[in-house]
Amino acid sequence: MTDARIAMLPGSFDPPTNGHIDIITRAAALFDILYVVVADNPGKGCLFTADERRAMLAGLFEGNSKIRVCTWPGLVVDFARKNGVGVMIRGVRALADFSYEFELAQTNKQLYPELEVLFIPCAPQYFLLRSSAIKEMAAFGADISSMVPAEVAEELRRKVVKR
Ligand code: ADP
Repeated sequence: MTDARIAMLPGSFDPPTNGHIDIITRAAALFDILYVVVADNPGKGCLFTADERRAMLAGLFEGNSKIRVCTWPGLVVDFARKNGVGVMIRGVRALADFSYEFELAQTNKQLYPELEVLFIPCAPQYFLLRSSAIKEMAAFGADISSMVPAEVAEELRRKVVKR
């Protein structure tokens, strides 16, 4: 059974950016519960482990009782089935995001027709924020303090130094 008051926002969050935080905060305001589902997919070659990404997000949203951060190793539709999730949220930046997201939504709908998919357009100031670009900039020592929360910038610095 799905519940339209329960939503999920799945993603890699490698690492969480100010754009993710904006979309999570806005989505949580619309539902009773928002699961932030961190993909635990070792094949994706993430810089941070799923648990590190979960811990960063959990720390950032500690004060928001609607937001539940967890990791998930399988298909997001299976997470939805298991947790009664009725709505899947995805943030969209550029038009290029939209065609990918649209296909993904169709596939998920085929796998789980009861699940509704909602797109939230990103805020203009976060239009260019991408985790992949931020990791690259951090690796070259660029100032990323306006793109990620201070806690994330610190974790990134530690990771990059270790490599
Ligand atoms: P994925 O690998 O599943 O695309 P991401 O971590 O890149 O995971 O993104 C997770 C979710 O956050 C996706 O819905 C994505 O569109 C959204 N998102 C990513 N960056 C931004 C941003 N700058 N502004 C708004 N939403 C974003």
